[in-house]
Amino acid sequence: MIRTGIGYDSHRMVADRRLVLGGVEIAYEKGLEGHSDADVLAHAVIDALLGAAGLGDIGEHFPDTEDAWRGADSMQLLAAIVTMVVAGGLEIVNVDCTLLMEEPQLGPHRAAIRERLAQALGLHIGRVNVKASTGEGLGFVGRREGVAALAVASLQDAG
Ligand SMILES: [Zn+2]
Repeated sequence: MIRTGIGYDSHRMVADRRLVLGGVEIAYEKGLEGHSDADVLAHAVIDALLGAAGLGDIGEHFPDTEDAWRGADSMQLLAAIVTMVVAGGLEIVNVDCTLLMEEPQLGPHRAAIRERLAQALGLHIGRVNVKASTGEGLGFVGRREGVAALAVASLQDAG
């Protein structure tokens, strides 16, 4: 049986913060605001995995009211969720995601992000896809006020 989950997240773009996407730090004049490292892409992937596994959402597992997760490396949170999913007798089939971001351009960083995500997910790179779309000047993405990410994950019972 295949189980599919969806994940969505968004964070505000602000000065004096790092921009970390899928575990890759990108040099840019602004970064994302949040309790953890605000890795919007990692958060969307986590929610997609939790959704597919029927395990709730990221806020239940890593509440942003807890000091333990302040400044947390979201790729470590992702690794913990992967471990949980696998321990539950499931294996990840594939993950696809889309970043909604006006700036900076994802192109130069896409391969590194894909590789980093594949590593954290324990998947061959061909099973992980990373896309980007701009806001065409519309909405909070288009106004460069924030970045959003969508992810879909498919799981199957481990054979
Ligand atoms: Zn988030």
